[in-house]
Amino acid sequence: MVLKDKFGRCINYLRLAVTDRCNLRCHYCLPEKFTNFLPKAHLLSYEEIMRLLRISSQLGISKLRITGGEPFVRNDLMKLLCAISDESLFESLHMTTNGVLTEPHIKELESFGFKSINLSLDSLSRDKFRLITKRDELPRVLSTLNALESSRIQAKINAVVMSEVNTDDILSFVAYTKEHDVSVRFIEEMPFNGTGRQPKNTWNHHVIKSHIEDHFELNSIPMNPGDTTQRFQIKGHKGEIGIIAAASRTFCGTCNRLRIGPRGDIQTCLYGAADTSLFDMFRSGASDALIADRIASIVAFKPKDGFTAEQSMINSGIHHASMATIGG
Ligand code: SAM
Repeated sequence: MVLKDKFGRCINYLRLAVTDRCNLRCHYCLPEKFTNFLPKAHLLSYEEIMRLLRISSQLGISKLRITGGEPFVRNDLMKLLCAISDESLFESLHMTTNGVLTEPHIKELESFGFKSINLSLDSLSRDKFRLITKRDELPRVLSTLNALESSRIQAKINAVVMSEVNTDDILSFVAYTKEHDVSVRFIEEMPFNGTGRQPKNTWNHHVIKSHIEDHFELNSIPMNPGDTTQRFQIKGHKGEIGIIAAASRTFCGTCNRLRIGPRGDIQTCLYGAADTSLFDMFRSGASDALIADRIASIVAFKPKDGFTAEQSMINSGIHHASMATIGG
């Protein structure tokens, strides 16, 4: 079985947010005073998540990313990950985390077969990190990064580039890849701050690239269908760099992603609203076949691209949610 949308795109990559709560308050993601988190009783239980993952695997999902909120703020996350690994439902397992609580679990994540971990890190300066996240946690994040680098899990750094905030960190990150086998990916800031505010996004992918090219010679690595990252090597560097045109949306044409939120909300496009929630189906005794049908029928109507999805959302008077409710 393969999940396909009406544009013929095969959807084989599931991003599952296991919570909307986070232990950081990055201003581009989650308003500092935000309290409107889902009540715990409204989250899919781990049993329901496992059922959802078995159904997804039967629908042809082969790549799973665990995200959040911050995945590690959900109680007993490792029990869920152990169950996922035990059932070998997917070809590859990935996670996106802020790294604050991750380091003690890296050996186990390695044994569960996690292939890569994206670590969200927007600055290597402790003061700037605290300014962006409102928490003084850079030392714990760096210790996670070190542990990842000496594990078999591929480490990727996700750095959101924000005008007048951390653009002077770009070259430090690039320099970091000289001695470290890490992929640093610069992401355009998107309007997912939960406030409806449009970011002053003057640092788009072109600007980021030409800024780096003023100092380093970038050798392009070809993109594959479904890739969102333009990747580059720099001669003599152990790691690589990437640029993600997340706000410019240059890659929607080959999108292979499906997002499911902590309440079982299905979102077929990052820029759109959630399409429906599976929560009631799980709680009202729907069969696996019915749930699979619902997923397939929603995927069929995945919007053509992020611009179309955003326009229908604007037409419905909804503004973008916090990324913490979507998972990135
Ligand atoms: N808590 C985890 C973390 O920090 O990696 C996972 C969830 S977080 C919402 C997932 C990713 O979304 C992070 O890499 C974060 O930087 C990115 N993100 C959040 N808000 C964003 C925004 N407005 N623009 C671009 N990326 C954003």
